[in-house]
Amino acid sequence: MVKVIEAGVRDTGRSLGRDTLKPTVLAAMGRVPRHELVPEDVRDAAYRNHPLPIGYGQTISQPYIVAIMTDLVEAGPGDRVLEVGTGSGYQAAVLAEVADEVYTLEIIPELARRAHRDLQRLGYTNVTARQGDGYFGWPEHAPYDAIVVTAGATHVPPPLIEQLKPGGRLIIPVGSRFLTQQLLLLTKAADGSVTTRQVLPVRFVPLTGGRDSP
Ligand code: SAH
Repeated sequence: MVKVIEAGVRDTGRSLGRDTLKPTVLAAMGRVPRHELVPEDVRDAAYRNHPLPIGYGQTISQPYIVAIMTDLVEAGPGDRVLEVGTGSGYQAAVLAEVADEVYTLEIIPELARRAHRDLQRLGYTNVTARQGDGYFGWPEHAPYDAIVVTAGATHVPPPLIEQLKPGGRLIIPVGSRFLTQQLLLLTKAADGSVTTRQVLPVRFVPLTGGRDSP
């Protein structure tokens, strides 16, 4: 799986702005037991480079996407990271391998409960997972060095920009609800100004809740 991710990164290097990922990110991808975080009926496909169904109409992201988001958002030692869209807990586990503290929110109670239980079982004591609407972030633990949104939004939620540290990075798929989105990398400068880079087209399940609520 890690070799396939590395090949994918080489193929998309121009969009990513790099042709290799950090060794720490590749090592994290090699360590996290993805098969422990997917439903039993798709377990034999756990190490293919594909998204997989996890129930409740949701999916665990493709490993290549998890790897590039972790790399681009530059989560590292000493960092406090917020994830919006826990899903299976897989991206949270990868972030927990490279950063110090991970806070992750999932809007569907059953998925939040399952991910919390699975992350505990796997020994990820530096992840705090709970049910909640991530559109509004998690102000109690803010500010964050990095924020990773793993559901497609129609716009960047302003509370997430507010909860980003100066110097912090935010990665989020933004676009139309049912078509492809653009993966955006936002960086907050020391003076609070934000710059945005468009990385590549992606396809995520929609971000619900917040002001996107029907
Ligand atoms: N990061 C996940 C991918 C999950 S798919 C993984 O590694 O498995 C996106 C998830 O975002 C879904 O589980 C969906 O229920 C959740 N989601 C959608 N809108 C949300 C919101 N406003 N707050 C928190 N979670 C949300």
